[in-house]
Amino acid sequence: MTVLITGGAGYIGSHAVRRLKQAGYKTLVLDNLVYGHSEFVEADELIIGDLENTKLLNQVFSKHKIQAVMHFAAYAYVGESVQNPAKYYRNNVASTLNLLDAMLAYKVKKFIFSSTCATYGEPDEIPITETHPQRPINPYGQSKLMVEKILDDYDHAYDLRSVRLRYFNAAGADPDGGIGEDHDPETHLIPLVLDAALERRAHISMFGTDYDTPDGTCVRDYIHVTDLAEAHVLGLKYLENGGKTDFFNLGNGNGFSVKEVIETARKITGKEIPAKIAPRRPGDPASLVGSSEKIKSALGWKPQFPDLPAIIETAWQWHKTRFGRTAQT
Ligand code: UDP
Repeated sequence: MTVLITGGAGYIGSHAVRRLKQAGYKTLVLDNLVYGHSEFVEADELIIGDLENTKLLNQVFSKHKIQAVMHFAAYAYVGESVQNPAKYYRNNVASTLNLLDAMLAYKVKKFIFSSTCATYGEPDEIPITETHPQRPINPYGQSKLMVEKILDDYDHAYDLRSVRLRYFNAAGADPDGGIGEDHDPETHLIPLVLDAALERRAHISMFGTDYDTPDGTCVRDYIHVTDLAEAHVLGLKYLENGGKTDFFNLGNGNGFSVKEVIETARKITGKEIPAKIAPRRPGDPASLVGSSEKIKSALGWKPQFPDLPAIIETAWQWHKTRFGRTAQT
């Protein structure tokens, strides 16, 4: 069975490719390498190109016997999406339509979609379940929700079945090495904390210490990227077995504060990691924690790395290998 993985050179996509290969699938990655890394691609084939290119999409689908698509390719900087929504709607929505058109033309009817907890917006209650209203507060979350709605309509009209996975905070790296988190620019807490451990940055800024949370800093649900990858394979198997279109949260059900992340990283790295109080970052809800009970009971998903120290340990091993040699002290 051949699976097309868009964005397979990115952080989560590359981990999914590894898991798919381990599970015996043939993998074909399509990535424009704007943010992805060609050296992360372990797929049987890498096609460098953009989903804007409908001619290329047709070629890819006509040449390969693609039976399912995992769609990771998207822009994901919340702040940028507020400044430049056109970029997000064009890439995350319009380009997804191109992909779906090609799938319909070639009768490919199984789709795994990277959605996000950002589709929920400010939560009414914690943990967030899948029945929580979806009210995104930024164009990034809006663009992902639009695709979710499109997928409902495509299911009804064209029998295109999908699994939408609403990620919480992806973190960590596969313990087998070789792939991990490397964003440019990097905005995520854990890699920035590890940068401070490597003295690639002088300190970590804690964006707000006056939130209504136990220690005043924001609480997030960090989920290991290998556990995320595994959920994609389970989602695909579910569709292969005739499963209906559905959507699932993917978090680990535990919340960790910014201070807890920094403290845990200090213990694991043995480094000081100076932290400074900084103003709140606009648009950050105090707490975002998801319930993943639905995917556990429906698909049998079971996280291997639910603990924060285990997540940070794998991130640290990767971070040292990737960035340690270039550390500026
Ligand atoms: N954060 C922080 N300092 C940083 C980067 C992030 O205090 O340099 C906080 C951020 O405000 C949020 C949490 O860490 O509460 C996780 O942020 P991240 O950008 O990793 O993920 P997000 O929750 O925005 O998807």
